[in-house]
Amino acid sequence: MTTLQDCRALDAQDPLRPLRDHFTLPEGVIYLDGNSLGVAPKAVAARVADVVQREWSQDLIRAWNSAGWVDLPQRLGNQLAPWIGAGPDEVVCTDTTSINLYKVLSAALNIAREDAPQRKRVLSERSNFPTDLYIAEALCRERGLELVLLEPEEIAAALQDDVAVLMLTHVNYRTGAMHDMAAITAAAHARGILTIWDLCHSAGAVPVHLNAANADFSIGCGYKYLNGGPGAPAFVWVHPRHTDRFWQPLAGWFGHAAPFEFTPEYRPAPGIRRYLCGTQPIISLSALQCGLAVFDAATPLGGMQALRTKSLALTDLFIRLVEERCAGHGLGLATPRAHAQRGSQVCLTREYGPHAPPLRGSLPPEGAVTALGRPGGGDSGAYAIVQALIARGVIGDFRAGDNGKHLDILRFGFTPLYIGFEDVWNAVEHLKQVLDTGEWQRAEFNQKQAVT
Ligand SMILES: *Cc1c(COP(=O)(O)O)cnc(C)c1O
Repeated sequence: MTTLQDCRALDAQDPLRPLRDHFTLPEGVIYLDGNSLGVAPKAVAARVADVVQREWSQDLIRAWNSAGWVDLPQRLGNQLAPWIGAGPDEVVCTDTTSINLYKVLSAALNIAREDAPQRKRVLSERSNFPTDLYIAEALCRERGLELVLLEPEEIAAALQDDVAVLMLTHVNYRTGAMHDMAAITAAAHARGILTIWDLCHSAGAVPVHLNAANADFSIGCGYKYLNGGPGAPAFVWVHPRHTDRFWQPLAGWFGHAAPFEFTPEYRPAPGIRRYLCGTQPIISLSALQCGLAVFDAATPLGGMQALRTKSLALTDLFIRLVEERCAGHGLGLATPRAHAQRGSQVCLTREYGPHAPPLRGSLPPEGAVTALGRPGGGDSGAYAIVQALIARGVIGDFRAGDNGKHLDILRFGFTPLYIGFEDVWNAVEHLKQVLDTGEWQRAEFNQKQAVT
């Protein structure tokens, strides 16, 4: 059996321990939701204040030059590039993931239309993050293409000659399952299919090698593992073989070769800068820069390899402790046990529907309501368990199950930059208490809020 002392010993040996001091972590909180909104770097308040008070308030419009605002998206892209296996001047930080997906999917479809006009399908996964599917659905409608949604095990067989683009999220947001980017990209290319990889749950969390995998396009999020702040600018990478082939569809003036010539005709900038659209959000980019700076500090401590080693140790420990200490409460595991298939999160499951596990614990079930109001009841309790944990300061989140499998998800992200092994122990101790006492059945934990 693993003990609290074992966990403390692991923290004492952790080479990444100093990185925790780069973040503001509220007292009494164990934050296991860095996969949804990363924590605030300590440097961010002073940096944003400086941007507002000095660069903006004093330098005013001169700051576009004097403070280097004008090329901030490229500079941040270069800072991020080594962490996703991209080269210099191949990445820009800009816009949102959804918007960047629209740009790269359009570009990919333009290339496919020119090279292989008979290809009329776009493939993705049914369990992909919905915004990715919505953007793809809208583009497919616009262009008369078919969006085909697959289960993971159906992907290989679906790579056929009528497919233009395969669009996948590298680490699944709901289960934490990770694809083999190099193998899938190679299989897609063998059939002439372009690949788009969404790195929202990968960038800063797991090793990514876009160039080595020979991927075609990639996008990802700034506010999750990169700790860029709520709504932080996202990023976009395009393989150099494609960058200059097409305009991206949102051909705004910041992507123009010479925006300050103010010419009536659009002339795209060479390289990745053409993926910028309009005037950039400098304050938000400056906050993201503080998130990326922590990764610079991680480099001398072992870089991504050290982060990955610790991340796997954290998720292994969490799985082991839940199994040792929370058995008998109807919890399952949605995240793969194989390291090669696991991101940096662990998703536990509870079943809903007619076969939902019986309500347990010492509290009477009166007052307990069906959190999701699913017809026929049979609530999984997953939402309420997560709420009860949050009330105790253990912040994870809940994701509703898809109807096929009748499993709701309790999701816990483990960010190796600031989560320690003792945190994992304490989180599982709270989970055990919430389950053993039936605390989660209280009415207050069963009121559904707008953001889960
Ligand atoms: C978080 C996330 C997004 C978010 O997109 P936004 O446009 O930034 O809101 C998109 N895709 C995936 C896979 C995500 O995990």
